[in-house]
Amino acid sequence: MSEINYWRIPYTQLPSLGERYPQGSSIKFRCMTVNDLKYMASLKDENADEMVTDILERCLKLDGVRFDQLLRMDRLTMLFFIRTNTFLLSNGFQTEFDCPHCGSRERQEFKMSDLKVKKITESTIHDVDMVDELGICVSGEYKTFADRVYHSPDPLIDLILNNTDLAHWQDMTVEQWTDWIYNLPADKVAKLKRAANDARCGVLGYVDLKCSKCRKTLRVGVDISDKSLFNKAKLSVLIRNKIQISKYCGVQITDDTPYNEVELTIAIVNELSEAEARSMKESKNGAKK
Ligand SMILES: [Zn+2]
Repeated sequence: MSEINYWRIPYTQLPSLGERYPQGSSIKFRCMTVNDLKYMASLKDENADEMVTDILERCLKLDGVRFDQLLRMDRLTMLFFIRTNTFLLSNGFQTEFDCPHCGSRERQEFKMSDLKVKKITESTIHDVDMVDELGICVSGEYKTFADRVYHSPDPLIDLILNNTDLAHWQDMTVEQWTDWIYNLPADKVAKLKRAANDARCGVLGYVDLKCSKCRKTLRVGVDISDKSLFNKAKLSVLIRNKIQISKYCGVQITDDTPYNEVELTIAIVNELSEAEARSMKESKNGAKK
């Protein structure tokens, strides 16, 4: 087995710009292997966050910085590096939408690098005075991997809990926090929302695309959840690729083989077998004449 390669993720490409990581530290990544993809084949809504975090931990090689010190705002960008280099031939995204200007039904492809990113330099941390309600001062906050991630049915609750230090003040469930926030005066909720929005950084869930009919630019929302990012790991495809490769070129794919090699080999195998089929057809036709 050959040794697996790791590549450095330049800090300049992370939303945090690496500003909060220790001096001299570095983050490297490797591609996902066949084994990683087998693991991801059981990805569901309920376990997506946990499984994708596992994969991130497996595929990163950290030097001078701990996994739990990494910032949440950098998580998607690091996953994009892994995903883009694992699926070399199929790392694009597809989106379908109706153009609000001309009604055209659009189906377009875009790359992950087309998604808008908010860098740490475009964010601000500020306080919200909550003296009447809790006797505290809530502040915007950059969360690390050590911090709990809140998921609720209301995006506003998630925004506030995941981008301020509110949840540090009391140990409550997400349902209790939801009730608590719903009972606040409207102006306090608005201030909390602003503090959270101003602190929030990272990959934003939308992309600017041009309508193919009227050429107007549209802002299209994109599902960048963990589940949709790695939904391509289908076990049946993996097994078929493995068989096809060993049948056509005798190369054994093991669990440690980086998946980008599998994908490229499959593309070559397909090309060769098509060429073979073509030449067989031609020689048959030639024999008939
Ligand atoms: Zn249009």
